[in-house]
Amino acid sequence: MATHKKPLIVGNWKMNPLTRTDAVTLAKAVVQQTKKVSDVSIVIAPPTLYLGEIAKVVARSQVALGVQHTHPGPVGAYTGEISPAQCAQYDVTYGIVGHSERRARGETDEQINAEVLMLLKQKMHPIICVGERERDAQANFYSVVEGQLTSALQSVPTARYRDVVIAYEPVWAIGTGATATPADVQEMRLFIIKVLTKLAGRAAAAAATILYGGSVSSDTSGALYRESSVNGFLVGGASLKPADFTKIITSTGK
Ligand code: PEP
Repeated sequence: MATHKKPLIVGNWKMNPLTRTDAVTLAKAVVQQTKKVSDVSIVIAPPTLYLGEIAKVVARSQVALGVQHTHPGPVGAYTGEISPAQCAQYDVTYGIVGHSERRARGETDEQINAEVLMLLKQKMHPIICVGERERDAQANFYSVVEGQLTSALQSVPTARYRDVVIAYEPVWAIGTGATATPADVQEMRLFIIKVLTKLAGRAAAAAATILYGGSVSSDTSGALYRESSVNGFLVGGASLKPADFTKIITSTGK
């Protein structure tokens, strides 16, 4: 499994687009427009339904595939679920875990931890989403993030931190246009490293990849990347517009 010392940009398509044809067109545009990008790892996470089709589009390209949600079991009687083992046959190498839109629908810390462990078992990179609903003046939001990290990473071996991606996604910034400032993101990045160090030691913490997500746009990505020192972005809305997504990708280049 690759480590991400080069920037990592992940596009979370969520439940978009509406048709298979539009999904293929979108994936083709991303592949085409990022053809010359060599110093950034690019991942798209389409709806699970389109994975087989999109896998053909991104095959032999610089774009890797992610899945938006997986079940912690390998196979069995789990209606509506899909496992990392099933996704692996489409060359899916990343799995988003604990997105706030899923936490809001009842996904628990225990489930998130089980999903992380299963993704790692299947040699996939879990992208663990953490983030507070709101920022309070007493800075309690730091403990919220610490609790989410501690729980999601339970039983993850130190040696596997290099395969782990943490996406700091404050809920108030997702889909709202209210991007966190580079200073906010930098502070939280340092805090996340501190928590990871407490959990697994300095080397493991340094090996993990830390992303920011929340209304990242082609206008804000350059400054956010340079000034916050994150390793890249988890992008929602802007990942559906190939030109914007490409600009975000290239804004992290050297
Ligand atoms: C997301 O949902 O992960 C996300 C970051 O969305 P957006 O970029 O639209 O805020």
